[in-house]
Amino acid sequence: MTDSRVTASRRDFVRTLSLGVGATLLVPSAFALPPERKLGVALVGLGKYSTGQLAPALQQTKLCRLVGIVTGSPAKAAKWQAQYGLADKNIYNYKTFDRLIDNPDIDIVYVVTPNALHAEFAVRAAQAGKHVMCEKPMATTVADCQRMLAASKKAGKKLSIGYRLHFEPHHQAMMRLGQKQAYGKINKLLSDNGFKFNNDTPWRVSKSLAGGGPLMDMGIYCLQGCLYTKGQVPVSVTAKFDPKTDNELFREVEAGVSWQLQFGDGSTADCHTSYAENLSGRLRAEAATGWFELQPAFGYGGLDGKTSQHPNTLDLPNINQQAAQMDDFADCILNDKPTRVPGEMGLRDVQLLLAIYRAAETGQKISTKDVQQLIDRTQAR
Ligand code: NAD
Repeated sequence: MTDSRVTASRRDFVRTLSLGVGATLLVPSAFALPPERKLGVALVGLGKYSTGQLAPALQQTKLCRLVGIVTGSPAKAAKWQAQYGLADKNIYNYKTFDRLIDNPDIDIVYVVTPNALHAEFAVRAAQAGKHVMCEKPMATTVADCQRMLAASKKAGKKLSIGYRLHFEPHHQAMMRLGQKQAYGKINKLLSDNGFKFNNDTPWRVSKSLAGGGPLMDMGIYCLQGCLYTKGQVPVSVTAKFDPKTDNELFREVEAGVSWQLQFGDGSTADCHTSYAENLSGRLRAEAATGWFELQPAFGYGGLDGKTSQHPNTLDLPNINQQAAQMDDFADCILNDKPTRVPGEMGLRDVQLLLAIYRAAETGQKISTKDVQQLIDRTQAR
């Protein structure tokens, strides 16, 4: 059976289910597909995030499940195979990767390697006829992002970025409160995120593998948060690097950076990220008639929110963010819907991150008018 027929039969099944409850599209949280009908996911790169978050989350998903892995380590392959009951034919290494084209069990390839390698694996996965979920940041160059988008488009497959917080209730509330102007026009946003880096993953301070330092890794959450709370793309940015706390560790990348986004309506966002200090993670909006904020804002759980109003509309449950993210992507594939976090959004963010670097390097205000003015699909829900 070809991949498309497998997917088509699953889609029919989902539609049938949906029609049975009143002709609505599938609501991912309401149904679980039987295991054999769930979309198959293969993780590429079995590091900390795959091990600690994604594989466990894929045991809780309703529409997709972990069926395969791509790893350069035979020892890891054996361990994962035993732990997750993966079939021999679904175990790949970086050389055999392209044989995914012959494997109808795998519908989605999830790229979880160091940043600069995302493009290579996302392109090869699309060429193998797979939908791709790619970790943040999408890539380290605009050209790589464009290659990824072109490959997915050519293959007729979806490309999504692992922006897990778009599926998280506190962040969805920030989008809603901000974009619907529940407290009037937002005049100022404030955001920070960072941790004291202990060099446990040395690629994170390698310019060629990470593309930069904490801005690419942790600052991207502040950037994303400000954009989806405000519901706008900035018109310009200014930025300043922090002094280096360790010249050896931070030989190739920044130790930290502060930046400001300027929006077309005169409002601003002040952000800071660092690999030299532990920051709890904050996203705060100050608007005409009140404020609303998350702190801690960006972790996998334990998020907390407050507003200037009572009752507190940010007193919300914490969920498994990665499971919600993956079920949403599977729902988009099964029902042929656009994802809220498409590759185009990843490209937009890489363009903005590079503009922030340019601003810090030159000391100039950098116009972002060249940044693709994508219609943000992050509608408040
Ligand atoms: P990690 O170092 O723990 O894992 C990276 C994996 O890639 C390892 O298994 C490593 O063996 C493999 N790899 C393949 N080629 C490599 C090479 N040339 N050099 C180094 N490693 C190589 O890193 P991680 O924390 O799992 O991060 C992986 C990706 O996931 C990054 O893009 C990161 O930004 C992203 N991430 C996202 C989140 C999130 O919340 N969305 C959280 C953590 C990491």
